[in-house]
Amino acid sequence: MKIKKGDRVKIILGKDRGRIGVVKKIWPRKGKLIVEGLNLIKKHLKPRGKDQPGGIVEKEAPLWISKVMLVCPHCQQATRVGYQLDKTGDKYRICKKCQSLIDRPGAKKTTKKRKITKKTTKKNKKNS
Ligand SMILES: [Zn+2]
Repeated sequence: MKIKKGDRVKIILGKDRGRIGVVKKIWPRKGKLIVEGLNLIKKHLKPRGKDQPGGIVEKEAPLWISKVMLVCPHCQQATRVGYQLDKTGDKYRICKKCQSLIDRPGAKKTTKKRKITKKTTKKNKKNS
């Protein structure tokens, strides 16, 4: 996925075209994301008791990933993303305009690879 949560992106299509925001949430499978404070829609809420008096609430609506471009943290331009492999085989995103790394080397994710190996070997017990 070219765009990740926390990236700065520029909206290239739609009513908020040209505006820049930070990716708040992303659904890579759906190809959608939410940019903080952008692509707001007005939601009409029905009153639900004391805590929710109802009214109109502005909420970020999901955008298609294809409607945004990554903003390079170095040259501040909306750019296409390229990839570069380092010696250890790690993949980093690079800005195609200024060729600098978008992902900071060394700031690797500390996601532990969990191997879920549920052995569902059913013992075929044929107890007659
Ligand atoms: Zn750049």
